[in-house]
Amino acid sequence: MNVLSHPRITSFIGGQPVSPGGRDAFENIDPATGEVVSTVEVATAEDVDHAVSAARAALSGPWGKLTLDQRARALHAIADGIEARFDDFLRAEMLDTGKPVNLASHLDIPRGAANFRAFAETLKHAPGEFFPMVAPDGGDALNYTLRGPRGVIGVICPWNLPFLLMTWKVAPALACGNTVVVKPSEETPSTAALLGEVMREAGIPDGVYNVVQGFGPGSAGQYLTEHQGIDGITFTGETRTGEAIMRAAAKGVRPVSFELGGKNAGIVFADCDMEKALEQTARAVFMNAGQVCLQTERLYVERPIFDAFVEGLAERARALKPGDPFDKATSFGPVISAEHKDKITGYYDVAARHGANVVTGGGLYAMDGRLAGGNWVEPTIWTGLDDADTVLREEIFGPCVHIAPFDDEDEAITRANDSEFGLASMLWTQDLSRAHRVGARLQSGITWVNCWFLRDLRTAFGGMKHSGIGREGGVHGLEFYTELRNICIKL
Ligand code: NAD
Repeated sequence: MNVLSHPRITSFIGGQPVSPGGRDAFENIDPATGEVVSTVEVATAEDVDHAVSAARAALSGPWGKLTLDQRARALHAIADGIEARFDDFLRAEMLDTGKPVNLASHLDIPRGAANFRAFAETLKHAPGEFFPMVAPDGGDALNYTLRGPRGVIGVICPWNLPFLLMTWKVAPALACGNTVVVKPSEETPSTAALLGEVMREAGIPDGVYNVVQGFGPGSAGQYLTEHQGIDGITFTGETRTGEAIMRAAAKGVRPVSFELGGKNAGIVFADCDMEKALEQTARAVFMNAGQVCLQTERLYVERPIFDAFVEGLAERARALKPGDPFDKATSFGPVISAEHKDKITGYYDVAARHGANVVTGGGLYAMDGRLAGGNWVEPTIWTGLDDADTVLREEIFGPCVHIAPFDDEDEAITRANDSEFGLASMLWTQDLSRAHRVGARLQSGITWVNCWFLRDLRTAFGGMKHSGIGREGGVHGLEFYTELRNICIKL
């Protein structure tokens, strides 16, 4: 059963779902079972054009005239609407992604609502500049800044945390007075469509929130990024997709905000609280079947605790329970698609060929009944590979980690930083000075010390090196979501 009032999922343009029929369509597959859960109609270039026009028209309509307080109330109304339809969002997200109910109900859907609440007041706290000056004629002049919306924002999202990451962009965009055209991942079309219904119920003016369904290259994603009516593109996804989007954005010199791939390192010192380190590292590696951009794929563990740590993490991996995502006892879900399953197990084969010691996992779960048709990849731990190995250099985006021993602090930092990516890092030590010292030297947009994925939405979020461009979160996203203007008045 599909929770959407339109069992055939279509784009959402100008405040209405597009009438079904007459477009190419594809099947949306439940990753847990391989069964078809809905059919999705692909937006045409003309649909994308209509969506951009609707978004542009809405900028100068009632939406553009709202005060900051009125806009903040609108964002809270959207959050209320998500909470009122929590179960619909939960079911839609679970069927799209196969996430276990415990994860989706505690993380994805609550964060979707929380994003709208967190950004509702952002602009009110935006710092401004004020510079009195003396002009060359000796008279006074005054400079001050004003912020306005950037315009129509193209929002392109991945499939791993679809609702959380989409609302993470839509909320600040709307808070700043922009309008949006969203292109959800083809793997996860449902919650973006449902949010359209919530927008209508919350009284958000037509055209403020639009969704175009479809694929990337040669489809809705490419049409959207190339459309000259888009004033800025915010994208979360793979680094090489970011490169293609950047090329499209070059025409018309449109700004981009990118949250891209990672190959995140964790460093575990021998003085850590072992139980906590193991518990949180198991989350950092295996949560969402490893399909989290912040996931740890490279671990460096100080030699005296290396063997005990490897065995402790392996025990936790073996204790994970794959199963029906709707069963509360399930703690481990499938990966998103058969194609992604093949990509991950391809790396499992490479690791084995390159002589890795497979501590646990390394293959597929044998599932029974309906679940036999799903994409069930085993959680996997390797040791024994060289830092230069492909398995340690490329993002796998699966439930797997390589663990290597280290002997001193400098060595650990150098090896952790030896990556073209720089999204997140994790550090376990009870030595406060070392935590500061090492934290300051790790090349990543975010470093967690004695924790993982502890997020305060007011903080700057983004990646260094190939992991991104710009920062979002709190007032940091204003750089992208607003245009800053200076007014100079000769007094
Ligand atoms: P992806 O790059 O394959 O796709 C992301 C989106 O881009 C999809 O909606 C897709 O249809 C669209 N797209 C693809 N090619 C396009 C093109 N040429 N033009 C326009 N749109 C295009 O990424 P994915 O597989 O959906 O997600 C996994 C990736 O996302 C991983 O690399 C992961 O690290 C990254 N990620 C990063 C963060 C972060 O915050 N840094 C968060 C989550 C995921």
